[in-house]
Amino acid sequence: MHELSIAHSILSIAEKAVPKNDRAVVTGVNLQIGELSGVEIESLKFAFSVIKENTLLEKAELIIDIIEGEAVCKECNTIFPLHSYGTCCPKCNSYSLKILKGREMRVLNIVVDE
Ligand SMILES: [Zn+2]
Repeated sequence: MHELSIAHSILSIAEKAVPKNDRAVVTGVNLQIGELSGVEIESLKFAFSVIKENTLLEKAELIIDIIEGEAVCKECNTIFPLHSYGTCCPKCNSYSLKILKGREMRVLNIVVDE
């Protein structure tokens, strides 16, 4: 399961970012996930809720910001929003596209309650 390994990497990135203060409680992890990344948000939240047990992130929720996909047509250079793969250029119908945005998956920051 893809989302489980993503959840593990989020956990390890966030654990390293936790201040070395034993009263610090991580309440949230801010993430950016592109709509073309193929990540299932609900599966990811579920996987995270399972693996966070007994870790520093036990009380943390995932706060997810979805990044809209964007592509540029290699034929006519039109830039347009791309919500899924298999879409062609709205101007010239070419499938020769370069993805500009929407494949990213990153941890922005963690929210700590001290
Ligand atoms: Zn085009």
